[in-house]
Amino acid sequence: MSGPCLLCPRLCGARRDLGETGFCGAGETPVAARASLHEWEEPCISGSRGSGTVFFSGCCLRCAFCQNGGISRRVKGAALSPRQLADVFLSLQEKGAHNINLVTPTHFTPAVAAALDDARARGLTVPAVWNSGGYELPGTLERLRGRVSVFLPDFKFMSPEISQRYCSAPDYAERAKAAIAKMADISPRPVFDADGMVTSGVIVRVLLLPGCLSDAKKVIEYLHSEYGESVYISIMSQYTPFGDLERFPELKRRVRAREYERLVDYAVDLGVVNGFTQDVSSSGLGFIPSFDCEGLPQAAPEA
Ligand code: SF4
Repeated sequence: MSGPCLLCPRLCGARRDLGETGFCGAGETPVAARASLHEWEEPCISGSRGSGTVFFSGCCLRCAFCQNGGISRRVKGAALSPRQLADVFLSLQEKGAHNINLVTPTHFTPAVAAALDDARARGLTVPAVWNSGGYELPGTLERLRGRVSVFLPDFKFMSPEISQRYCSAPDYAERAKAAIAKMADISPRPVFDADGMVTSGVIVRVLLLPGCLSDAKKVIEYLHSEYGESVYISIMSQYTPFGDLERFPELKRRVRAREYERLVDYAVDLGVVNGFTQDVSSSGLGFIPSFDCEGLPQAAPEA
């Protein structure tokens, strides 16, 4: 990558090729904090053997409530060349991963695309899953055509006031709408294999935050009216207070079971049938993985 970075809607123009870091905190080289088989995704992604999950460091959004805040608000982990990243993908496949699950990869899109090409040429056959915050540019996502077949974006907020408060991104909803439209263009239909594992399509995650029930309803209404059954909706209850929330006291509690049930009921009443729900007990800090560089090359330099 050369020239000012314009990969995400921040359009901050950092000269990452010259050693600068942007709003996302990332420099030129991809940095990851963990690569392991992950069991806590949707059943069609985790399956029986686990999803081959690579957690990237840094983030274009940096949400105030991020449960991966230890690596999203600062870049921590192992720096990896595209070749090393391809080795990690192949190693996960070797361990039995159903797919390669790329978590928060947007700010490393060119290197991830190169790594996928390299890994495919060397025998990677499982699907690649783009697991992102939804704050992305269609032009950047276009680079994934033919490389990524499953998209797993968040759609976090509809209200510009809420997205400004929690992410300093009042344009979040408009960006997420455009990003999901591009993802649906690349992978228009959900496809599952004989074991029920998703091999292509778009699954949009809607995480219910405390006090944001009516905003989450608007997100689900939009997705259902725009995409009907061609996009799956994953309604998530797992929000757990994490990190310094002094400026956001409303986020210092978990979502109540009744709030979550009302959101699920709303989706059912709308006619949503292609979706996933969670047990309200699927929250807690115990579900946050350790970002200890597990599964990454020992020789990789510490970022
Ligand atoms: S990916 Fe990072 S450096 Fe590039 S525009 Fe976005 S925030 Fe800026």
